[in-house]
Amino acid sequence: MGECEESELTRLLREQAGGFASCRAGAGGWEPPDTPGLLSRFREAAGLGWAGLLTSEGYGGEGAGWPEAVAVVEELAAGEPRLALMMASHLTCCRGAEMWGREDALREVLPPLARGERLGALGLTEPEAGTDFDRPRAALMVRGEAEVAVSGNKCFVTNAAAETPFSLLTFARSKSGLAALLIPSEAPGLHLAHLYRFSGWEGLPNHAVVLQDCRVPAGGVLRDGLGREDLLGMLDGAWLLAAALAAGMGRACLEEAAAYARRREQGGARLAGHQSAAFRLADTATGLELLRTSLLPAARRLRDGEDVHAEICMLKLHSAGWLEEAASCAVEMCGSFGYTLDSRISSLWRDSKGLRLLWGTRELARLELARSLGLPK
Ligand SMILES: Cc1cc2nc3c(=O)[nH]c(=O)nc-3n(C[C@H](O)[C@H](O)[C@H](O)COP(=O)(O)OP(=O)(O)OC[C@H]3O[C@@H](n4cnc5c(N)ncnc54)[C@H](O)[C@@H]3O)c2cc1C
Repeated sequence: MGECEESELTRLLREQAGGFASCRAGAGGWEPPDTPGLLSRFREAAGLGWAGLLTSEGYGGEGAGWPEAVAVVEELAAGEPRLALMMASHLTCCRGAEMWGREDALREVLPPLARGERLGALGLTEPEAGTDFDRPRAALMVRGEAEVAVSGNKCFVTNAAAETPFSLLTFARSKSGLAALLIPSEAPGLHLAHLYRFSGWEGLPNHAVVLQDCRVPAGGVLRDGLGREDLLGMLDGAWLLAAALAAGMGRACLEEAAAYARRREQGGARLAGHQSAAFRLADTATGLELLRTSLLPAARRLRDGEDVHAEICMLKLHSAGWLEEAASCAVEMCGSFGYTLDSRISSLWRDSKGLRLLWGTRELARLELARSLGLPK
């Protein structure tokens, strides 16, 4: 099999996810989805097994790997970016839990996540620790043998929804370094606070989460004594999925802009017939192809346990930068219509800015890349 040739399973999943998402790519005026609608779509997607893609079969999942997850997230993103981001957050949470949890605890907590009965969320960012994600203020308190509690504030948590139970994969300072925790939304002391309204990503469930002397259930301390490198290992997967999101959203931008350029006449010809417009579309298509052909090899190497951190930093850096440019270019191609809230392209453009920030800014990716090139901090 060639480096860029997908396995039969990946191809089938891509086809299935493409069909599933494309039916929602609305005709006419673009309407932002609402949160209940998104949650219902997530449940439908979970019904097809995608919520359990990265969870081992022994824990009720599909036991698939990163190439399959990338294909599904990319296809969902081309039609329904919010659903794709919810799925990417969920998969990141499930994968992180399985990386660090004890077998007996995972047997209990993972099956409902793999079935999509609970949403998985990643609580990395804090009000005072964004790019400094490895220096959380949240602290773990151990009281005797049986009781563990955590206090701290997490913010911008995708999938922290008021409407449905979720499990929060989060991190706190401990005596041994960093502790990875999996806390159910029902835990005493876990409260949803501010609901964020982003400039894009309308409808996405995203709240601040307050942990106030929050009781961590038995098995909820997945691993104590983690360091920055461990968290970066988890972020490799998250950033790979973020790059898959960019590829899907970029494809949608290209399709929207090309369709408009084919039907719009100005200067006595279709826009697509003007060389300057055609060149713009050709540039976007080139960036997209280069991104897509880098995704599969990186996903395979991550699945195979190879050190792919530098490549994934590059993917994070390149994909989010390229997408914003592609979306901005597509908005302009569609003229003022592209700039209205009724156009899907303006939604993709606003969403593209958020993708630059998701799970770490591009500066974090640059810092990491510089480090892996051996440059001093
Ligand atoms: C749509 C969306 C969904 C999100 N979902 C989640 C989620 O599910 N879970 C979660 O935990 N978070 C989530 N986030 C939050 C996101 O991960 C953080 O906003 C991001 O990591 C940046 O942190 P910050 O906002 O605190 O910015 P800061 O870290 O304060 O950065 C501010 C600016 O300073 C720059 N900067 C910071 N440090 C350095 C440095 N050392 N050198 C140079 N420049 C630097 C940054 O690049 C940035 O431009 C989400 C964000 C968005 C937009």
